[in-house]
Amino acid sequence: MNLLQITVVGAGVMGKGLAYNCAVSGHEVFLNDKNEEILAKAKKEIEKLLEVSFQKSFITEETFESAKNSIKFESELNIAAKDANLVIEAVLENMDLKISIFKQLDRICNPETILATNTSTMSPTEIGAQTSRPDKVVAMHFFNPVHKMKLVEVVRGLETSDETVEFAKEVSASLKKEAVEVNEFPGFVTSRMNCLIGNEAMNMLMEGVASAKDIDKAMKLGLNHPMGPLELADLVGLDTRLRNMEYLYQTLGEKYRPCPLLVKYVKAGRLGKKSGSGFYKYN
Ligand code: NAD
Repeated sequence: MNLLQITVVGAGVMGKGLAYNCAVSGHEVFLNDKNEEILAKAKKEIEKLLEVSFQKSFITEETFESAKNSIKFESELNIAAKDANLVIEAVLENMDLKISIFKQLDRICNPETILATNTSTMSPTEIGAQTSRPDKVVAMHFFNPVHKMKLVEVVRGLETSDETVEFAKEVSASLKKEAVEVNEFPGFVTSRMNCLIGNEAMNMLMEGVASAKDIDKAMKLGLNHPMGPLELADLVGLDTRLRNMEYLYQTLGEKYRPCPLLVKYVKAGRLGKKSGSGFYKYN
């Protein structure tokens, strides 16, 4: 596929990974965040990741140089998104926030621009309905860490066109990912399953069934999961996981009620790896 200009909105855990992955795949990237400090931190972390990837020979010197130059860090959305072929939104899992960003993008971007959301659970139909181009709105659900994880769930909203779905699959392939097509339903395939496993692990920890380490070890060695559910929740971010659970609880019912221990940890500011502690401690 032709190289694109891709704008990523939100420079948190996923936005940084998306910007890195798009840039090393040859696309021109704008990374946007409303918070200048977060944007500066993202620049540092992406440059570090590029350096490490080059030192370990995961990328060539040419890719290292071109990727470094192809990412622009921009806090003004109208500058970051005005010439984009594709925008991937990766802000907090909050429907009102996502809708307000898509409304702005709909005004700023060319009528042909495809608008994708990296939501883990939410409805691209609901988001698309607030724009003048619901046929060009789709969810592209990437995984964390973006440059290592192979899957993208391409989630078709009610009005998403076949062309948009095909485009999202082609973009996924250009990023060296495998796409699966999913018809919209809360939590898609992966989050619907994974949130339930994670929540059950948290309930077990709260009930004193086993330590966090042993729950994770049991799942890795007994059920062949590459990561334990509590380690994975720490990697995702416990605030993000709680928002996912709240949405699934609201849309799919009782079995998704967030574990009280998760709620307590988020209240305490224990957000997982990004804050230095969650179910485990990090340096
Ligand atoms: P995060 O909290 O790490 O980052 C969100 C970023 O959005 C923050 O930097 C914040 O400053 C920024 N933001 C908030 N309002 C904004 C605005 N108006 N304009 C621009 N930027 C704004 O969140 P995250 O973990 O990266 O998750 C982002 C999305 O990706 C969520 O929808 C989440 O469900 C989804 N997701 C997360 C993971 C994961 O493992 N963390 C995996 C797959 C999908």
